[in-house]
Amino acid sequence: MTSLTTTDLLSQTRTDAVHDLLSIGFGPASLAIAVAIYDILEQRALTGSTSFTPKVRFLERQSAFGWHAGMLLPGTKMQISFIKDLATMRNPKSRFTFLNYLKEHNRLAQFANLDTFLPFRVEFEDYLKWSACHFSDLVEYSQDVTSVKPLKLDGSQKFNCLEVTSKDVSTGATSVQHARNIVIAIGGRPSIPSVFPRGHERIIHSSRYNLHISSVLPNKDKAYSIAVIGAGQSAAEVFNDLQSRYPNSKNLLLMRDTALRPSDDSPFVNEVFNPEVVDEFYSTAPDVRSAQLKGNKATNYSVVRLGLLEQIYEDQYQQRMQNPDPDTWHHRILPSREVVEVTDLPQNKRLNLTVKNFSSQACKAKETYSVDAVILATGYVRDVHNEMLKECQAINGSRDGAWISERDYKVKLDRDFVEDDVQIYLQGCNEQTHGLSDTLLSILATRGGEIVDSVFGGAILEADTRDLVNASSSDMSGPLGPLWKLSPNAKEDASSKRKRAASSAAESAKA
Ligand SMILES: Cc1cc2nc3c(=O)[nH]c(=O)nc-3n(C[C@H](O)[C@H](O)[C@H](O)COP(=O)(O)OP(=O)(O)OC[C@H]3O[C@@H](n4cnc5c(N)ncnc54)[C@H](O)[C@@H]3O)c2cc1C
Repeated sequence: MTSLTTTDLLSQTRTDAVHDLLSIGFGPASLAIAVAIYDILEQRALTGSTSFTPKVRFLERQSAFGWHAGMLLPGTKMQISFIKDLATMRNPKSRFTFLNYLKEHNRLAQFANLDTFLPFRVEFEDYLKWSACHFSDLVEYSQDVTSVKPLKLDGSQKFNCLEVTSKDVSTGATSVQHARNIVIAIGGRPSIPSVFPRGHERIIHSSRYNLHISSVLPNKDKAYSIAVIGAGQSAAEVFNDLQSRYPNSKNLLLMRDTALRPSDDSPFVNEVFNPEVVDEFYSTAPDVRSAQLKGNKATNYSVVRLGLLEQIYEDQYQQRMQNPDPDTWHHRILPSREVVEVTDLPQNKRLNLTVKNFSSQACKAKETYSVDAVILATGYVRDVHNEMLKECQAINGSRDGAWISERDYKVKLDRDFVEDDVQIYLQGCNEQTHGLSDTLLSILATRGGEIVDSVFGGAILEADTRDLVNASSSDMSGPLGPLWKLSPNAKEDASSKRKRAASSAAESAKA
């Protein structure tokens, strides 16, 4: 079968149009929605249905597609099976599966020989980029969305549209776009413990590590002192990376916990990431949900994949073989520690960290470390939608002003003030209500399908009805729209499906 191109199916919408769907942020979550729309349109085109033509657009702050570029470190691997890509769990036959990406890049057999479900992170990002570039007509990059507000167009009594304001990150120019449905899929913002000053060039959050470290510490051979704060996968990866990036540096890994702990991806526990678990979790009482999130925390938070953990332990052991005194080591792990004060020493471009030691022997003693840079691997907060939706409070259906997603990810709006066909969907900030998979890749394929269903289910049904009526009155000899692009077999199949649809429509009309 010849695949239809994305431009055959989804053409660019004028920016002054009222979009059916405008998605804010073009990371994997939005990309999965784009793929789900494509799959539906392709399937419809194959049966000759071309009457569903949604106006869709995506706004993305980055200047091009990128997936956690600050942590694309050499050799790092995915923490999830490639089967949980943008499409497979919903539609293994989609052209946007990871396996099809491999096939199109002539690496399918070689990847199979690797005998793994976990691709390199660099390769997965390339897969995401490859998928994203198929939708480039629909994405406006360098657009930092600042606010969303409800609007009354064409003299409507109620709000009947949403206005999205964004700023071009390179020119500073502001623009507005309108939509009936918006999806906010903007990921998290760096979580920075309050003791650390904001905007200090030598204090780098892990999300910017790979992009900024070499400008802050430019000399690869210098004996820098670097502190990494955190106990999760990112902290361990950065700590590990520093050893090869700066072979002469002295690195500290400071963490509150008493030890680095392994992530739990054992099969029974991993079922928490199954798509169907979202239904169960959503319908459970809030206190039970909280207990479940806590109980399964080791799948994702403050944990490290066992392989990396063992590698770091071996490195520590080799230092111990050379010198039993840990104070002399180049790469030290300091557990039970919390940074309580940070002093900037601008004259020598260093920072002094005052650290509380919670281990019993040290009796909460304070220690001081002087470092050239600090890397904060302290996670993310997922609350930016609150600020973005400030001007939408007038239509918030929740009395306390919180934005709570329903099962299909749309927030409850006050229908006394806003029309029924206006919706706001939230992605990636619903862990408390939708479970641990919400911030991850695990269910993106199925979730993308669910969003498309929720936004376009009604429109697709209407289009189907129109198609049936049109088919019954058509003589079948007219042009087949985009079907001309199909292979002879696919064309025949589509044509006969269309004839079957027409005859069943004619039967129902007679009845
Ligand atoms: C280093 C790292 C590795 C990870 N590895 C895995 C893994 O192996 N498996 C897994 O399941 N999960 C992993 N995750 C979790 C991660 O959250 C998901 O992989 C995935 O990125 C979630 O996609 P998203 O689209 O929800 O969010 P994001 O990927 O964060 O994408 C959000 C997008 O929105 C854009 N944006 C933000 N604000 C605005 C704005 N105001 N206006 C316009 N655009 C905006 C951002 O630029 C970004 O492109 C990892 C996370 C990190 C940090």
